[in-house]
Amino acid sequence: MAVVPEATATAEPRQATMGLETPEGVTIAPEGDEVLTIEDLHVEVDGHEILRGVDLVVRQGELHALMGPNGSGKSTLANTLAGNVAYKVTQGRILLRGNEITTWAPDARARAGMFLAFQYPEEIPGVPVSQFLRQAVSARRGMDLSVLEVRVALSEWMQRLEMDPAFASRYLNEGFSGGEKKRNEILQMAMLEPDVAILDETDSGLDVDALRIVAKGIEEVRRVRPVLGIVLVTHYRRILERLRPDRVHVMLEGRIVDSGGPELAERLDREGYEALRP
Ligand code: ADP
Ligand code: MG
Repeated sequence: MAVVPEATATAEPRQATMGLETPEGVTIAPEGDEVLTIEDLHVEVDGHEILRGVDLVVRQGELHALMGPNGSGKSTLANTLAGNVAYKVTQGRILLRGNEITTWAPDARARAGMFLAFQYPEEIPGVPVSQFLRQAVSARRGMDLSVLEVRVALSEWMQRLEMDPAFASRYLNEGFSGGEKKRNEILQMAMLEPDVAILDETDSGLDVDALRIVAKGIEEVRRVRPVLGIVLVTHYRRILERLRPDRVHVMLEGRIVDSGGPELAERLDREGYEALRP
């Protein structure tokens, strides 16, 4: 199995049709188009209930935007999906392509097809981007990939994302600018070929340039990998004008209190979140 982005591969359905061996020995069924299913999720942090019954279904190819004021629980949901142990699920469950992963470790989730932009260490001194990606993609595939196999896919993706080829030799996250971190996130998402990606675009520090990079990167990855389901946590309506999400959800006090199409983001922009408070 070569690491070739879909656009350059044959038209055959790709590895998803083969099922995927998880560390638990479960074969994830390729049937069904729900990539992420969250049912009545309750989560505690430090003994405080933060998520208070979240339901969400993401199907193949869908882009969902998750909005909501500061402190409403968006990042808590992202951390819980990543499998961060500080976030304790007290009720409900999480399914990835139909298999329950609620208790799985973060690396097992990643291998099974869940991608979280922040799941990797901020900086790995002495580890170039290319080496890191080879290890991560090998882990995801369950086989050691050659330097060459990875290099081909990597250079194609870096071209698509308009990245300087020298970037592949830089040490992971060391001295990366905000824009470079964003590009690197999108590059990781592209290379790992996940089934579902959770992108938490944290509120501060994202300038217009970084937003543009994220939006363009998401468009490009969706074009090449149309089955990917994405949950984009964002405050910014501008990015949603460009990406046109299939669904917009509003989180408030640990629950999704409203869902709709892109018009919901426009209404929030006019009316704010207050109107949605119970
Ligand atoms: P958002 O991403 O929507 O701004 P968060 O999920 O970060 O919201 O936070 C929701 C609530 O959970 C806040 O009240 C926050 O203080 C609390 N919280 C989140 N993470 C932690 C943590 N690691 N320790 C303690 N409290 C936390
Ligand atoms: Mg947050």
